[in-house]
Amino acid sequence: AELDALDVIVLAVILLGTVAYLTKGKYWGVKKDPYTTPLPGSAAAKAGRTRNIVEKLEESGKNCIIFYGSQTGTAEDYASRLAKEGKSRFGLETMVADLEDYDYDNLDAVPSDKIVMFVLATYGEGEPTDNAVEFYEFITSENPDFSSGETEKPLKNLHYVAFGLGNNTYEHYNAMVRNVDKALQRLGASRIGEAGEGDDGAGTMEEDFLAWKEPMWEAVAKKMGLQEREAIYEPIFGIVERDDLTRDSPEVYLGEPNKMHLDGEPKGPFNAHNPYTAPIQKSYELFNSKDRNCLHMEIDISGSNLTYQTGDHIAIWPTNAGQEVDRFLNIFDLADKRHTVISVKPLEPTAKVPFPTPTTYDAIVRYHMEICAPVSRQFVATLAAFAPDDESRAELTKLGNDKDYFHSKVTTQYLNIARLLEIVSKGKKWSNVPFSALIEGITKLQPRYYSISSSSLEHPKLVSITAVVESQALPGREDPFKGVATNYLLALKEKQNGDASPSPYGLTYEITGPRNKYDGIHVPVHIRHSNFKLPSDPTRPIIMIGPGTGVAPFRGFIRERKKLAENGQTVGKSILFFGCRRSTEDFMYQKEWEEVKQVLGDKFELVTAFSREGSKKVYVQHRLKERSKEINALLDQKAFFYVCGDAANMAREVNATLAQILADERGISKSKAEEIVKQMRASNQYQEDVW
Ligand code: FAD
Repeated sequence: AELDALDVIVLAVILLGTVAYLTKGKYWGVKKDPYTTPLPGSAAAKAGRTRNIVEKLEESGKNCIIFYGSQTGTAEDYASRLAKEGKSRFGLETMVADLEDYDYDNLDAVPSDKIVMFVLATYGEGEPTDNAVEFYEFITSENPDFSSGETEKPLKNLHYVAFGLGNNTYEHYNAMVRNVDKALQRLGASRIGEAGEGDDGAGTMEEDFLAWKEPMWEAVAKKMGLQEREAIYEPIFGIVERDDLTRDSPEVYLGEPNKMHLDGEPKGPFNAHNPYTAPIQKSYELFNSKDRNCLHMEIDISGSNLTYQTGDHIAIWPTNAGQEVDRFLNIFDLADKRHTVISVKPLEPTAKVPFPTPTTYDAIVRYHMEICAPVSRQFVATLAAFAPDDESRAELTKLGNDKDYFHSKVTTQYLNIARLLEIVSKGKKWSNVPFSALIEGITKLQPRYYSISSSSLEHPKLVSITAVVESQALPGREDPFKGVATNYLLALKEKQNGDASPSPYGLTYEITGPRNKYDGIHVPVHIRHSNFKLPSDPTRPIIMIGPGTGVAPFRGFIRERKKLAENGQTVGKSILFFGCRRSTEDFMYQKEWEEVKQVLGDKFELVTAFSREGSKKVYVQHRLKERSKEINALLDQKAFFYVCGDAANMAREVNATLAQILADERGISKSKAEEIVKQMRASNQYQEDVW
């Protein structure tokens, strides 16, 4: 009976959308649901929802809309958390919205008793996230074309709240929130509270968010005359166990990312909502010292319409390790029913279920939840209400409230949620936690990006990646911390090289994927185009700084120039600064560079920095400095300057070193030199691909 009621709600929503579509008779954008994206032109596609924000707010009875511009899921997660908190603490009727799903020309018609929140991540070089590009262009344009036609303070009725997610190691720190905030003010909108800024570079994102939101809520409550009430947990999703289905039923998702993958051969377009299941053609290790692995993998995209250009990124869709899936299901007392089929339905029409259903607990946890990620302190506080005993409740409440205590017990130990709860309750199961709370509190498993290390000129349909396997020994913890995607890739490599059931470092995976669809060594991928590109004129000199895996895109660049030369083209000087620990330990692609040299001769030069070979540590920036004269001369010839790899230290050091070189060689002041470097960045003569 419960199922029927839920289904009725869902049907009613669909019907409402259809009626709205038919009655309006104008273009209604298709609501993009990443999991059940209907085929263009299908009845389902036509029954899309409105792109009109005001209509949406009215139709759903909401008074607070929280937009997110998200690339890796964090901004989306924060938006959901604000929505949840606004509702439970202040009774706000909140909804979360993807910026991509709406039009902005009637932001000026949002009534003044509503609130619009923006949670905006800055991506790469101060760019908007993919889903925020259109909004950003609209709002920051000189005269945004609002539906009222008004140009004088068109947003004077708009009350908004803003939080940005950025990284201070990048040049344009939190550019998105800063620029959007400025634009909104210029258009007459009034901000409630401060515009918050979270800093991933300092590792304080979560704490910055928590510190920002308290005074923000106070300001919102004051402005809107809201009374705070005791927050009680209300689930957003209804879970229905489906006795009528088993995991063998064809309509049950066992990890397939969307309907096309469930039904048969998935078709393109392949993108962030729809991966291509690509065969891995070849994989091996570039070096393999005792506790470090570095993978080279070649991924065949010839069976798809995917294309790439040298310098683009490929996204790998990972699977969680079996041990962590088991640990999670076990601590939440779901192990016995891991294969039970469930349907998950939003209990309110604006909520989105972040994976396709019907499915199983096992599939959700394995393929769709970021169960190994850092734990959110706010989430920990929420879970305290469901503790199995008083002692655990007290401890979890303390962890939730005490920032420093949390840091020392959880963050520094790289605990994930299941490991933390195991420790807190001494293994006692957390049977009372509603599954909805887990869906709400744990982010969607994210694809990981890799700088493509092949050349599209040489191999248009074969994409290679160069990835170091993430592993960190931690004092006070028995087993090292293991990264999600890279250890999965390591297992795929072992499988490809003959191990039928690989278990690198004891980690096992459902390596053949849902319904064995990834067997024969496939991995789900999509391509993301980047601005990190060779100069269009191949005779221009290039200077590349790429220590460690930062060498990845430069292997592509250099192979591209080698290929051009083999085709009879003249290529400019290409100089690569590569760094690693020792020439005998982790010197990647050493043989390949020699082959390139055979073709390019003195047009190619490799400069190495081995940090652990001499008495003093030598890094790429030191080698760069030694070459000051030559670097300056190449820049005079309009050389392009590229940096790839570690954003936190190396990229910054290199930037500073280049400014120093210019100051010394050109006899100009340091500030003038820094200004030149800035201009080089602005004009794309200086490009970074850092992470
Ligand atoms: P994850 O599990 O995602 O862990 C990564 C890090 O997150 C950990 O080291 C740790 O610092 C932190 N973390 C995770 N869980 C916890 C926890 N519970 N507690 C505390 N901290 C935690 N990498 C390459 O090797 N080669 C490339 O060419 C490359 N190119 C990239 C290009 C771009 C544009 C970007 C954005 C990234 C690139 N990366 C590259 C990095 C890559 O995307 C992955 O981040 C990396 O491989 C690690 O992924 P993982 O899933 O194995 O690790």
